[in-house]
Amino acid sequence: VTDVEELLTEGWRPIPFREFVVKLASRCNLACDYCYIYEMADQSWQSTPVVMAEETIAQLGRRISEHATRHGTESLRVILHGGEPLLAGAARIRQAAAGLRAAVPAGTRLELGIQTNGVLLDAELLGVLSEHQIRVGVSIDGDEVSHDRHRRHRDGRGSFSGTARALRLLAQPSHRELYSGLLCTIDLANDPVGVYEALLDFAPPTVDFLLPHGNWQTPPPGRDPHGTETPYGDWLVAIFDRWYPAPRQETHVRLFEEIINLLLGGASRSEQVGLSPVALIVVDTDGSLQQVDTLKSSYAGAPYTGLNIFDHPLDAALHHPAVVTRQLGLRALGEQCRGCRIVRVCGGGHYAHRYRPGAGFTSPSVYCLDLQRLIDHIGQRLRTDLSKTPVAADVEDSSPAPTYQ
Ligand code: SF4
Repeated sequence: VTDVEELLTEGWRPIPFREFVVKLASRCNLACDYCYIYEMADQSWQSTPVVMAEETIAQLGRRISEHATRHGTESLRVILHGGEPLLAGAARIRQAAAGLRAAVPAGTRLELGIQTNGVLLDAELLGVLSEHQIRVGVSIDGDEVSHDRHRRHRDGRGSFSGTARALRLLAQPSHRELYSGLLCTIDLANDPVGVYEALLDFAPPTVDFLLPHGNWQTPPPGRDPHGTETPYGDWLVAIFDRWYPAPRQETHVRLFEEIINLLLGGASRSEQVGLSPVALIVVDTDGSLQQVDTLKSSYAGAPYTGLNIFDHPLDAALHHPAVVTRQLGLRALGEQCRGCRIVRVCGGGHYAHRYRPGAGFTSPSVYCLDLQRLIDHIGQRLRTDLSKTPVAADVEDSSPAPTYQ
């Protein structure tokens, strides 16, 4: 367990929260079989309010304002999340957006977003999202067969047609500025390039590929944690080799761009890779404060801080040992990761994927070999390209060792 007092005595200071994942609704209109909220270790959603109440939203606005004022925060991001946040309805979404915008202190920029499966998106909801400049991210796993393999209604019907309809609405010129991108969970059963090209059909500004949640106790599908195969690395490499040399950039792929940025010595903005401190907190529908809720895939109760916005300022969460651990970068990693040649790029992978009973979160990611495969492949492509440039040739002999070795 991280000794926060000792760290503070040493002079370490936490990074204030800049990103808030707000659970506007705790239930979902779909029943995706890989969902970390409903289908994994933690079942606490059953006892939380279905929709965040008006007074909880108002209190959240006060806490965010207090936190931003105290720390002089220049910009904040709030993602309306769920469950399925559109289940909260147009009126509650409008109230949340207007309330949060009004609460943020002058001088602090607020970016609002919503992450949805899109099925409920209609003209009225689009009007509210547009009125309050709420940018929309949509979860979709590829073409109809790929998507409907997991993303189904409770009665077994696939959800692709509803999601595709929403994406066609969003891609219209009148709504295009609201369209932030697509979130695709990887399934090894799907052809990677086929999935990527199916996503391109919806003209996304950005695509984010997510490794399915799993850990050393409950490995992801097709990932033998003790095997030497790299099925997820190979899957992503196939897409990288389709995306990277394309004659014109068809979309941004966040994971690849983060890795390239890290290989070139930059910092990460993603939880999937890199060592940057995590400045994100999750607020549940009852106002309780949680770490990343993907930790629900690890064990029951894993994300809970025991704090809530009615009784505690956000600074209390900033000093919670589990939140602090995710801000410590290299110091929070186990021995194997700390000694790894690509640790500054990989960062031990996603925190939830490191969980191993008995070792907590100090093991390497259960995707360790897949991450090595992908990072090494991207690094090789970059080195090949950079070696062809006159600038790289000039500095080759005198430049310090690159971050990536
Ligand atoms: S998870 Fe594996 S590849 Fe990543 S830093 Fe740890 S040991 Fe290295």
